[in-house]
Amino acid sequence: MRILMTGGAGFIGSNVVDAYVEAGHQVIVVDDLSSGSRANRNPAARCYNVDVRSDEIDHIVETEHPDVVNHHAAQVSVRRSVEAPLTDASVHILGSVRVLEAAHKHGVRRVIFASTGGAIYGEIERGLGDEQHPCRPLSPYAVAKLSVEHYLEYYRATYGLETVVLRYANVYGPRQDPHGEAGVVAIFIQQILAGIAPTIFGDGEQTRDFVYVDDVVRANLAALDVAVGGDRSSVFNIATGREASVNEVWDTLAAIAAPTVTPHHEPPRPGDLRRSVLDPARAKRDLGWFPTVDLAEGLARTWEWFLARETAERQAA
Ligand code: NAD
Repeated sequence: MRILMTGGAGFIGSNVVDAYVEAGHQVIVVDDLSSGSRANRNPAARCYNVDVRSDEIDHIVETEHPDVVNHHAAQVSVRRSVEAPLTDASVHILGSVRVLEAAHKHGVRRVIFASTGGAIYGEIERGLGDEQHPCRPLSPYAVAKLSVEHYLEYYRATYGLETVVLRYANVYGPRQDPHGEAGVVAIFIQQILAGIAPTIFGDGEQTRDFVYVDDVVRANLAALDVAVGGDRSSVFNIATGREASVNEVWDTLAAIAAPTVTPHHEPPRPGDLRRSVLDPARAKRDLGWFPTVDLAEGLARTWEWFLARETAERQAA
């Protein structure tokens, strides 16, 4: 397949690009490198250093003629969306409409969209949040993601575009940037490496559903071929169904990395969720996807990757 990947120089996008290339697909990356990095780019993929809001997108989609567009480019910081909602809306909404317009005009068959299960539902008060859970977005970031899901549904219903929405829980792993939704893992690791005491906001008992990036990559492979149909977009939680507290993440990392620092606590940040944990049953049933890497294993692999990168950077300096 020819796959155009927006955000393909970012944390998740670049891991997905590597897997698509490995599987024999032709991949084209569109990324303005605002939070992604050149080092993440796969040499086998042609790269356009372009903003998804730009009118160049139409020309790129027309000339590259992809079968599938996988849309990961976004402003990914919930905090920044609160501080600058206009910029956030501009990248998410105008950028996504630009991509969807080009996709439908130039005969793209399918659009895969990286949405957020970690933010779109709001507080999960009891049990696991499935895809029917009410969406109660509590940040401009989550409002924008939900809006883009509605745009996808519009393009599906009106133009017959195949649409697959992957609602990620909190994704962590190699190449992670500290600013994303599961930023706490990258923040803790970088602070352990730098010998800086990390801050835990609140009592640390707030929970998230942490899903390892290799599992997320497998969901993006499955999303290429999954049968879509019916009268709605295909929406899947990509999650583990297991909640872990911030304290548990710290304790697990501490057992792996033996830090010289201990965390200190500050008051909880307004708007932070207390509990987020999602039901991955639909993805298992319809996408044939389920998580394979548990938290301890995923954190160990992530730690090894950051440690190897730090060692390489020290040797190069
Ligand atoms: P990331 O910042 O590493 O990736 C985003 C990529 O998009 C970067 O390479 C950035 O340079 C690019 N980009 C940003 N604005 C752009 C623009 N206007 N035009 C072109 N490129 C642009 O973050 P990530 O964590 O890999 O997130 C990838 C996607 O997954 C995002 O859509 C994010 O909202 C979504 N997501 C992430 C998580 C998570 O836990 N990391 C959870 C849910 C959803």
